[in-house]
Amino acid sequence: MPREDLLELGLMQAHLPALLMALVHVTGDASLLDEFPRPVYDFFAEGRLGGYNEETQSRLRARAKAAIEAYLVNGQTLPPAPSPATLHKMMNFVAGVDIPEHYLPFMEEELGISGEDAKHPHWESPKLQAARKDMRVVVIGAGMSGILSAIRLQQAGIAFDVIEKNPDVGGTWLENTYPGCRVDNPNHMYSFSFEPNHDWPYHYSTQDVLLDYFRRTADKYGLRKHIRFGTQVLETRFDEKTAKWHVTIKDKSGKEETLVADAVISAVGQLNQPKMPDIPGVGSFKGPAFHSATWRHDVDLKGKRVNVIGTGASAFQFVPEIAPDVKELKVFQRTPPWLGPTPDYHDKVGEGKKWLLEHVPFYAKWYRFWIFWMMTDGIYEFVKTDPTWNGSPNAVSPNNALLREMLTAAIKPQTDDAPWLFDKIIPDYPFGGKRSLRDNGKWVEALKRPNVALVTEPIAEINATGVKTKDGKQYDSDVLIYGTGFHASNFLRTFKVYGRGGQELHDRWNGDARAYLGMTVPGFPNFFMIYGPNTNIVVNGSIIFFSECSVRYIIGCLRLLAETGSATLEPKEKVHDTFNARVDEANKMMAWGAPQVTSWYKNATGRVSQNWPFPLVEYWSATLNPNPNDFELRKSA
Ligand code: NAP
Repeated sequence: MPREDLLELGLMQAHLPALLMALVHVTGDASLLDEFPRPVYDFFAEGRLGGYNEETQSRLRARAKAAIEAYLVNGQTLPPAPSPATLHKMMNFVAGVDIPEHYLPFMEEELGISGEDAKHPHWESPKLQAARKDMRVVVIGAGMSGILSAIRLQQAGIAFDVIEKNPDVGGTWLENTYPGCRVDNPNHMYSFSFEPNHDWPYHYSTQDVLLDYFRRTADKYGLRKHIRFGTQVLETRFDEKTAKWHVTIKDKSGKEETLVADAVISAVGQLNQPKMPDIPGVGSFKGPAFHSATWRHDVDLKGKRVNVIGTGASAFQFVPEIAPDVKELKVFQRTPPWLGPTPDYHDKVGEGKKWLLEHVPFYAKWYRFWIFWMMTDGIYEFVKTDPTWNGSPNAVSPNNALLREMLTAAIKPQTDDAPWLFDKIIPDYPFGGKRSLRDNGKWVEALKRPNVALVTEPIAEINATGVKTKDGKQYDSDVLIYGTGFHASNFLRTFKVYGRGGQELHDRWNGDARAYLGMTVPGFPNFFMIYGPNTNIVVNGSIIFFSECSVRYIIGCLRLLAETGSATLEPKEKVHDTFNARVDEANKMMAWGAPQVTSWYKNATGRVSQNWPFPLVEYWSATLNPNPNDFELRKSA
């Protein structure tokens, strides 16, 4: 398509407030921020038009067209970058609110106007260059966080090996291949901050696209030569005499080997050990039965009777995909998910918008910034418990109750032609108790199909021919699919970690995993976790952002060792305990910590072991640099 047409299309598809910010950059005219009204966003709409009326939209598009043409066609150079004060004004403008002062450095880094990769380790000093020569790190896992760790270690010039059980990189995006699998965070944010992709085909891309992104990133950084594929970690053991970790691995052929490293980074994630439900008779079904994360593509579902157990994030995606093909589908729901309106969930990114992202200076930065802000702490206050709340236990605060009302009203019209569904799909727990799912109508549409039934009677047993519910009804099927989630709270389930004195990490945890900032544990020197205890997020932010912060911090810990000439570092017990007490108190005050809520966010003891309970900015600031006072630093083991 000719450039003029792409520009025209782009102007129509643009996120207008982000386009206005690009216009300020291209023209250097900050008075545009006063000339145009601040956008007003509707929580339930796409937000692209910023609430502008038609006249304002046309005026903005005309101004942008003239400026972009002058820049691209006439080769006009860009004016100097906006001053810090103007940038702050621009942030507030595009966010549609005054961003609190303490968020500004965080938001500035996220915006990244300078184009520099703010989290690049920069190990340039002679001291660091000398120290890194003797450092070796083992990374466990080559999913999103493992790839990221490898990139940062490589940038720091530290030698490393990555151990990966699968035959390829990608982790969850390699393993989960169920129909309809896609990311449910907007892709222009769900990507490494330093590796933007202007070519995402969808706002929420499909699994194959995500996998391709991580494969390409691994290739771009030449990581494959460092990765041992098809290899499992059996155990990692700290040797107190040498202050080294001994990591025992086993390859596909069964050959075992022990690698010696100064530090170990676990990047195995929380959600990769499929969990079968604790229902009597599980395993007794005679036909094909499989979990969503190990989808059997060799089982043709066409014309079959299928039972699905679970209505979480995975089932929510595959049920609408398989429903049109199967003869009969019974969906067994224990608890309904909350549905958040997301009209563009399955929409493609328009070609004009892609062109803007690629060609218009700073448009992509502001577009990402806007998504980031909206996903950051915008909804945080709505999932916080108000201790004075004495209303229904289906909410935790007046704000939370208001959100319940708004979401319920948004779902209602979908069931106008199927009133029997309404009560079944409205959760009785507070919004934020569990992960909410992105609704563009496909879920309810699938449940309303004549060949589909939502069964809410509790399951009594699984047997040879199907599923029996507590009311005695038998639901026979040809295939049984488990959408029943993962062993999330059983962290690092697949290998043993022996620290000082031979103490095993799981023994220390005793079913209740805890760490300092999700990453370090007393008695386990130079052992780090990414996406460890209490680093999952429910409503605010993306897990890639968390990983980027964690990896910066971990590389910072290695820097601390190098700068202080220390052999090991581990958090002080008191620091670890104080942090965890603070986390526990805060989690109790969140919707997911409410006593009436059960979910995989809580472990068997009832403690919320998965989630970060604070605003995102707090993880960012806590992980900027390790505080030496938090650690025991030792010159030798
Ligand atoms: P999940 O959210 O844990 O859902 C498991 C489902 O199985 C729930 O509906 C659960 O009901 C049900 N279940 C479990 N045990 C049961 C039993 N004994 N009897 C009856 N029902 C039972 O698992 P998931 O759907 O695989 O998702 C897990 C997480 O993975 C998500 O929260 C999300 O973080 C991530 N994920 C992300 C994406 C994405 O970004 N696109 C997609 C998929 C998954 P209860 O609710 O009553 O426990």
